[in-house]
Amino acid sequence: MMSVTLNKQQPQSGYTGCACRDCMDTTVSGDVTKPELCGLCEDAGCESFTVEAMQASDVTAGHFECQRDDAYGDE
Ligand SMILES: [Zn+2]
Ligand SMILES: [Zn+2]
Repeated sequence: MMSVTLNKQQPQSGYTGCACRDCMDTTVSGDVTKPELCGLCEDAGCESFTVEAMQASDVTAGHFECQRDDAYGDE
């Protein structure tokens, strides 16, 4: 990371955990303060889990469950 120049105006892209609540994958986000869904979760239609999203409406906890077929696989 020695080639990264410090610039406070620019969001810093980099690796973040997947925004999906149940997903442990790592993905690359354009802004590390705002995790994004990994590709598999995006394809599966997972919801990004944030406090704001959770409080925004009266969604149930299940709303944020990982939608991937392999979400709960024990590999
Ligand atoms: Zn994911
Ligand atoms: Zn997911």
